[in-house]
Amino acid sequence: MSFDEKVKVNAYILHSKPHIEVNSEKCRSCSTKPCVKLCPAGCYRLSPSGEVMFSHDACLECGTCRLVCPHRAVRWSYPEAGYGIWYRFG
Ligand code: SF4
Ligand code: SF4
Repeated sequence: MSFDEKVKVNAYILHSKPHIEVNSEKCRSCSTKPCVKLCPAGCYRLSPSGEVMFSHDACLECGTCRLVCPHRAVRWSYPEAGYGIWYRFG
C-alpha cells in the first residue's frame, strides 16, 4: 500500500477551532513558502494569485510546517484530547 493510499484511510475528528494558526501577513512577504512543498498532507496551497491558503482538515500532526517556516508564522499545538487524526496504519 502506498503512502497516499495509507493517508486516505486515516480518520479525523475536527475541532471547530484549528490547532494551527498561520499569520497570513507574514506569508505574503515569504519568498520561498516551503510549507506549500513540504506539508505531506497538502494543507498549504497557493491560490491563483499566489496567496498561501491553509486548511487543517487533513493535518497529520507531523509538525513540519512549524519547523520549516522561516518567519515563525505558524502557531502550532496539538488538537484538544479526542480531536485530530486517528491513524489506521500507525
Ligand atoms: S513558510 Fe511560513 S511564512 Fe512562509 S508561507 Fe509558509 S507559513 Fe507562511
Ligand atoms: S503539521 Fe504536518 S500535516 Fe499538519 S499542516 Fe503542518 S506540515 Fe502539514
